[in-house]
Amino acid sequence: MGIVKLIIVVLVVWLGFSVWRKLRQPKNNNVPQPSSTKMVSCSVCKTHVPENEAIIKDGQVFCSTKCLG
Ligand SMILES: [Zn+2]
Repeated sequence: MGIVKLIIVVLVVWLGFSVWRKLRQPKNNNVPQPSSTKMVSCSVCKTHVPENEAIIKDGQVFCSTKCLG
């Protein structure tokens, strides 16, 4: 009985560890666009503007207040 319990414990720990690693990896490796400007297109005039300069309202992207209004 002791061996079976030990195997189960090892399996659970290993499983937890591999899941933990899987969850951690994308955060460390998969950062293709950290803070570099991501381009988004205005939903009115289709102009591409950097995401940090775009105006996002109700899930829609606007290049300027002109398109927003
Ligand atoms: Zn626009």
